[in-house]
Amino acid sequence: MRLARDVNKKDFSRKDIARLKAKIAIRQSGCWEYVGSVDKIDGYGNFYINGRKFRTHRVMFAYYKRDIPAKKIICHKCDNRRCCNPDHLFIGTSNDNYLDALKKGRIKIKLKSKKAWAVRRIVAVAREISEKKLRGSIYDDLRAAIVEYDRYTGNI
Ligand SMILES: [Zn+2]
Repeated sequence: MRLARDVNKKDFSRKDIARLKAKIAIRQSGCWEYVGSVDKIDGYGNFYINGRKFRTHRVMFAYYKRDIPAKKIICHKCDNRRCCNPDHLFIGTSNDNYLDALKKGRIKIKLKSKKAWAVRRIVAVAREISEKKLRGSIYDDLRAAIVEYDRYTGNI
């Protein structure tokens, strides 16, 4: 993941925001979906202001919530990368985003080591339990993660 630059409210005018909002469609899900061009690699919306390329969700977060320091990333609660609804966004580190992606099963990593992946998965599920965000089949998830770990490490 690329290290993100800082984004500040002062980087854009009300006019820039109006231009951006003209390319946003509000969906029934509550997502404010950017319908302009998205990055071919990561799927986030691209938007140019004064010749500088911004990510649409970062612009909206900085404008409506608060400035984004360098290296901080903006994560989606809704998992919709085109979404720019400030209420669907939260500020975090790339670690938070990684764990979030892992927990939601969204991650697509190139596996260098299946064992390392299995450990990370167990850690993520354990972390979720420790945060008491207990939902439905969380214990089944943990059991499945342990089974995967055992398989990769040869304990089965
Ligand atoms: Zn959304």
